[in-house]
Amino acid sequence: MPSTTRVAVGATIRVPADGYRFGKGPLTLWITEVLSVGRFEGALWAELRGHEVNPDGTLRIRQRFAFVRVDRAVAVEVPSRWSRRREHVPTRPTWRCQACGIAWPCSAAKLRLLAEYRHDRPALTVYLATLQAEAAEELPDSGPNAPRVGLIDRFVSWARARG
Ligand SMILES: [Zn+2]
Repeated sequence: MPSTTRVAVGATIRVPADGYRFGKGPLTLWITEVLSVGRFEGALWAELRGHEVNPDGTLRIRQRFAFVRVDRAVAVEVPSRWSRRREHVPTRPTWRCQACGIAWPCSAAKLRLLAEYRHDRPALTVYLATLQAEAAEELPDSGPNAPRVGLIDRFVSWARARG
């Protein structure tokens, strides 16, 4: 369907503030997953997962969901010195850094996350715990009987505020 082609994995879209839920101001999103597309209140909407694009073309390491009105989304080319493939975001379901190839979060991702959450450290811990739970389900060597301590250290412990 032509109207949905702009809303595809790997595309970057810009949506005005009234064209998506929920957030403030226009949204520029690099799409990593299209969860669903369907009609809602007479328009075509897509439930997306991705990373917001910073004004300098880099990505926010934090992932977000957005419910986007497809006819309000415009495909954009984001000028960037870096390829999207070299951003420090996790590849699923391997949970390796897309840029470094090592177990995510790498040092660069940790630094970026600390910067993005500098005013709300508890929210970072909650976010990382969510990712850790997702990784525990997706990683083949960490089923229900595998020890979880490694993943908790890897995802969550490093970000806990030292007191
Ligand atoms: Zn990395």
